[in-house]
Amino acid sequence: MTDIISREIQLISHPTGMPTLNNFALAQTKLEPLQAGQVLVRNLYISVDPYMRGRMNGGKSYVPPFELGQPMTGSAVGEVVESRAEQLKTGDAVTSNYGWREYFIATPPELHPVSRDIQPLSVHLGALGMTGLTAWAGLYLVDVKAEDVIFISGAAGAVGNVAGQLAKIRGCQVIGSAGSPEKVKFLKEECGFVGEASLEENRAFDYKTSPVIPVIEQLNLAAPDGIDVYFDNVGGEMLEAALSALRVNGRIIACGGISGYNAEIPQPGPSNLFNITTKRLTMKGLIVGDWLGCRAEFEQVVGDYYRFGKAQATPTGKLKNKETVVVGIDKAVSAFLGLFTGENIGKMVVKLE
Ligand code: NDP
Repeated sequence: MTDIISREIQLISHPTGMPTLNNFALAQTKLEPLQAGQVLVRNLYISVDPYMRGRMNGGKSYVPPFELGQPMTGSAVGEVVESRAEQLKTGDAVTSNYGWREYFIATPPELHPVSRDIQPLSVHLGALGMTGLTAWAGLYLVDVKAEDVIFISGAAGAVGNVAGQLAKIRGCQVIGSAGSPEKVKFLKEECGFVGEASLEENRAFDYKTSPVIPVIEQLNLAAPDGIDVYFDNVGGEMLEAALSALRVNGRIIACGGISGYNAEIPQPGPSNLFNITTKRLTMKGLIVGDWLGCRAEFEQVVGDYYRFGKAQATPTGKLKNKETVVVGIDKAVSAFLGLFTGENIGKMVVKLE
């Protein structure tokens, strides 16, 4: 193996509030010679994810904090470029948790082989990766079934759009909120967030309209008889509106709360939490890492929707893998920051050159 120099993004200081470019550095590292039982992997796409914000704080969290001066870990998909392990050969595609770097050396148990037949390979970070598994697990957790009316916040994002498409496959009525007219169009025209009758039925709405229309008003228009399930990616005003709109015995999937991730002081909880009591609601928390044991089943079932179709609500009949692709490891930080200003439709990924 010739000397490999790998570029990587390191966290160099803990952000306060919204992170800035100054919290990160682009560094270079020289890789050690490959040992028996190891493989050299070149990353092709890396994932940037909102949950990473919590890992930047340095304190104790449900996932280990990032170490200052070390490369940022996280989901990535790459290819084996040299192998000294019999389980993997040159050219094999693998996902890993090695994150924001160009090359790395690993042993086979740290890698998850994925099929090169399923393209683009970045789908293994999105619809068939961690965010797709989150969507699938969330629906499973609260036993979503046909005829449920489900409201999804952050619906045009990575988890949200797949949750909506999978709920449509199960026969649910799906309503989504998103932060621009373009995102609403995507939900209606490409993901099937429409009523039975017509595209005009208001099943996806823009929560950033000007002048602002409160979320609860838009949700009541979309679901005049209330909702059965709320898939929460956002928290804050969305959760408060959903608590009002939920019917008796409604269920909440507590997946994320991105509206508060950069808050410098803790945000107050919803003012109407007592709805949980009066309407006998169930709210279940979800951490995707608990669901890795179901990954084979998920990849089979959802992989088949992606390759062969079943999503009658989408134009192609297949599960849509929507992505926003940013090119270059030097753009990884701005891609990450863009998650908090809504720059992405679908999964935000960084393609390495
Ligand atoms: P997304 O692809 O949805 O990207 C983030 C989106 O969030 C943005 O595009 C933006 O969309 C929206 N957003 C950003 N800031 C705000 C804000 N202040 N208020 C409302 N919306 C905002 O990310 P993911 O799909 O990867 O993640 C979605 C959620 O799911 C996150 O909360 C994440 O932490 C959580 N998650 C949880 C997991 C778990 O195991 N529990 C696993 C994976 C994700 P818009 O333009 O519509 O505002």
